[in-house]
Amino acid sequence: MSSTDDKITSLLSEGRVFEPPVEGREAAAIGSLEEYKAIYKRSIEDPEGYWAERAEELVTWDKKWDTVLEADFDKPEFSWFKGGKMNVSYNCLDRHLENGRRNKAAIIWQGEPEEDVKVYTYQMLHTEVCRFANVLKKKGVKKGDRVSIYLPMIPELSIALLACARIGAMHSVVFAGFSSVALQSRIQDCEAKVLVTADAVIRAGKTIPLKPNADEALSECDTVKNCIVVKRGGNEVSMTEGRDTWWHDEVTADDIASTCEPESMDAEDILFILYTSGSTGKPKGVVHTTGGYLTYAMHTCQYVFDLKDNDVYWCTADIGWVTGHSYILYGPLGLGATSVMFEGVPTYPGPDRFWKIVEKFQVNIFYTAPTVIRALMRDGDGPTQRYDLSSLRILGSVGEPINPEAWMWYHVNIGKEKLPIVDTWWQTETGGIMISPLPYATPTKPGSASLPLPGIDVAIYTEEGGEASPNEGGHLVVRKPWPGMLRGVFGDPARYKKAYFSRYKDTYDPEDGARKDDDGYFWIMGRLDDVVNVSGHRLGTAEIESALVSHPQIAEAAVVGMPHPIKGQAVYAFVTPNTGVEQSPELLAELRTHVRKEIGPIATPDAIQYAPGLPKTRSGKIMRRVLRKIAANDFKDFGDTSTLADPSVVDDLINGKKALD
Ligand code: ATP
Ligand code: MG
Repeated sequence: MSSTDDKITSLLSEGRVFEPPVEGREAAAIGSLEEYKAIYKRSIEDPEGYWAERAEELVTWDKKWDTVLEADFDKPEFSWFKGGKMNVSYNCLDRHLENGRRNKAAIIWQGEPEEDVKVYTYQMLHTEVCRFANVLKKKGVKKGDRVSIYLPMIPELSIALLACARIGAMHSVVFAGFSSVALQSRIQDCEAKVLVTADAVIRAGKTIPLKPNADEALSECDTVKNCIVVKRGGNEVSMTEGRDTWWHDEVTADDIASTCEPESMDAEDILFILYTSGSTGKPKGVVHTTGGYLTYAMHTCQYVFDLKDNDVYWCTADIGWVTGHSYILYGPLGLGATSVMFEGVPTYPGPDRFWKIVEKFQVNIFYTAPTVIRALMRDGDGPTQRYDLSSLRILGSVGEPINPEAWMWYHVNIGKEKLPIVDTWWQTETGGIMISPLPYATPTKPGSASLPLPGIDVAIYTEEGGEASPNEGGHLVVRKPWPGMLRGVFGDPARYKKAYFSRYKDTYDPEDGARKDDDGYFWIMGRLDDVVNVSGHRLGTAEIESALVSHPQIAEAAVVGMPHPIKGQAVYAFVTPNTGVEQSPELLAELRTHVRKEIGPIATPDAIQYAPGLPKTRSGKIMRRVLRKIAANDFKDFGDTSTLADPSVVDDLINGKKALD
């Protein structure tokens, strides 16, 4: 196994290439690099023709569109498939009842307790969705109204989203790990009429009450007239008379029918609002519409995961994030696939939980996040060897740049050095995957999201505009509209324009830094705010972090820029050593040498601080803006930290910083 024995180097010098598997190419949606290139070329030369074909092929329309695309980057305003009419829930459910998938598993739900498993066939899911759609209607929810959903990963979450889509109400899912404050601001922002929640979340063997958070949030949300509560934990909850009712009472009421006519929606009607994870600032209420979003979710799901009718597909994200929206629900169900939904966490009752589930359901396609892989790596490869993982054929990663160390672990221990890894770059705003290898076509390089998907025109721009030279870091931009793109920031058109369309003319600005290598492969350096500029050299924090965690004694690292009188910015690193490693000054010196060797003197951290924990959002992303302030000795006004998983780590880091100075 020479590949694992090699010392993992930083992204800058990562040079390994892995060919896609030969077996499976013939049956694949796109089965060679040449085929990809031909499709890509066509999609860029004739985007409207390309997208019209895809929309026709993937989606069932009640009425065909008048125009494929109307785009104005200056306003900005975009519409896809204008004049077209369709319903997303019809596309995800009803049509599969007639095309032979009626009795196929749509959702396999694995509850947190091992024995809690529920399978919903397309027919069963259809019935449940219709019943809940009728409940919403009974509560006075109409097309265009907002419904906030604050639920753990239980089947009712999927049912609620599809029910909203069925009647044309916009859903706004708020991750159940968020506090009442975060929930309240999101309900207020979209002025929801109904809140759907649960008595509790079951997590790592514990029943954690959820309803009290909802009550607290609702204390200042006048727009919410009804709160529907799912019984999950069975714990005692207080129900407010006239406002709160139980889900199970509502859906079984005599006047609730098992069918509900889907509302025929305009392609550009809003399907949902979803707030970004807030790593860089106040979360934005990202708006997605109906026709373009579904087309794009299905298109990417089909190409990137090569989803086939026989596959069992598992995306481990929470539906509270866009990944869950697009790749647990809308993409797979649109395609009529079988999607696994898991309530628990990767490390409980043990670090083998994921692999146990893979074996149990014979999962074929598995999509997770680098933060999960790093957490599981700490326990070594033992837990992965106890299970039969031979059903797997494609592995995926999303959420942040995957450091080569984690990529290789995934490749060797889960992929058995055979399976393709699709490192998918995208955002809440993009609606679906934008840059990713195609499993049977694209050679992969550990740490690179590789090439843009068909229809996606991405480039690296310099500060002044214009394309950067190969290997030169710069701004990642998208130069053509695509159907899954966000259509607004809810209630804030000025922010929509400023955040995404103001840096360069006629481009979408994802606010991420990246570089493109000589083969045209994209290497995401992280958020632009996170790029450190040392003496005019732009360094991606991801690259320095990757070098730090490639040291055998370091579990996690976060790097930020700190003001420096001469260099402009200096590199400041926070490191979490592995359990049992002594936090010595010698190790810090060793780490400096290590980074110098891996990347070069320019990236050598000027300061390194031991961190017992890092400030991470609930979705597992490091909130570097908090770390930047700590590094700069500015301990006030951390901004919106409501999405932090554990706010107490901030105080620990401040104390650590004060002790250093
Ligand atoms: P906010 O926009 O509120 O600060 P956020 O950007 O963390 O939050 P998301 O939309 O959930 O919210 O995350 C998208 C971001 O995650 C991307 O812009 C990018 O920085 C990072 N990302 C996602 N996938 C990858 C990947 N495969 N490689 C590198 N970075 C990725
Ligand atoms: Mg973002």
